[in-house]
Amino acid sequence: MNSNEIKKLDKEKIVATYNRYDMVAGSGKGARCISVDGKEYIDFTAGIGVNSLGFCDDGWVKAVTEQLGRLQHVSNLYYTEPQVKVAKMLTERTGLEKVFFGNSGAEANEAAIKTARKYGSVSKGIEKNKIITLNNSFHGRTMATITATGQEGYHKYFTPFLDGFDYCDANDIQQLEKLVDENTCAVMMEMIQGEGGVLNLDEAFVKAAERICAEKDILFIADEVQTGIGRSGKLFAYEHFGVVPDIVTFAKGIGGGLPIGGAIFGKKCCDVLEPGNHGTTYGGNPVACAGAVEVLSRIDDAFLGDVAAKGEYIREKLLDIPQVKSVSGMGLMLGVEIEGKEAGQAVSDALEKGLMILTAKDRVRLLPPLTITYEELDEGLKILKDVLA
Ligand SMILES: *Cc1c(COP(=O)(O)O)cnc(C)c1O
Repeated sequence: MNSNEIKKLDKEKIVATYNRYDMVAGSGKGARCISVDGKEYIDFTAGIGVNSLGFCDDGWVKAVTEQLGRLQHVSNLYYTEPQVKVAKMLTERTGLEKVFFGNSGAEANEAAIKTARKYGSVSKGIEKNKIITLNNSFHGRTMATITATGQEGYHKYFTPFLDGFDYCDANDIQQLEKLVDENTCAVMMEMIQGEGGVLNLDEAFVKAAERICAEKDILFIADEVQTGIGRSGKLFAYEHFGVVPDIVTFAKGIGGGLPIGGAIFGKKCCDVLEPGNHGTTYGGNPVACAGAVEVLSRIDDAFLGDVAAKGEYIREKLLDIPQVKSVSGMGLMLGVEIEGKEAGQAVSDALEKGLMILTAKDRVRLLPPLTITYEELDEGLKILKDVLA
């Protein structure tokens, strides 16, 4: 099919839940994507923070295809090696205890929410479990996770939402203290609000949240779906804030492009979920886990140092562009405040000129593959500069 045939069929036959940009992706390698029309693009999106190693990384393709030829799926009624390997890597590197595997970020957060509610009712004897999340957060699209998402825009149409969620302004320690009561079982937050505009939380607020949770025996949940797996320059962004959560949720970047997500549980709550309490057919699928093993084994300390250095490099170059007012985020998760053009317009204009970028609220958002080279960064930044001029 040519690109026009594909676009036409898409409009006719696929539910219009996405506003698509005008490009039909055909293939990719590293930080370069080729459309079915043969046009080449520099990729500053990594599939929304998913393709950590870029498109079709050789080692990743090998790991995944080898597993695919050996065992593609068997169900969670049996043991498999790729699953335990990922769990071992995640727990050893975080110091947390155990992992639950799902297939997406929303499912990762669902697992955390269910665990928190069971923890509250069984361990603390709470009848009305309340979870506090932050205004301007994003936690997913399922009923529980859109309820957890502290943005009015998501709270239309699908009523009734779940009971037992309360929203606190980011960085308002006093408000958090006030909202926590005897019915609170968890506080959940992103260290950098991704969809909310790439807004970093204050270290003092994150530390206060950890302290309040510890004092009141409340679970402290970090949603690291977007910030995790090396994106921020550390394996998980909470490491920048000097805290250790009770639950860390992950998805996007871990599979290198295959659907996998989950939650890592600390001592307090690693045995809360028991047989029959939770599960999912595909969770921890061997092929997705083989991809995750490759991604995690590549993201060592030297790799993370590189991510941080590239982040600093982009930040400096961006701040030299006259239309750039400020740059938020960490590592290779960056929010760019621009003037003279709407962020959405900048994204379309950049695509036209061969650069894939994203928006987050009114900012331009950059999430390049972690393996992007300095040459590719320069090429993309040059296009961005032209687009903003
Ligand atoms: C993307 C995202 C989610 C949802 O992940 P899905 O895989 O789309 O379900 C949840 N939390 C955060 C912080 C995200 O960025």
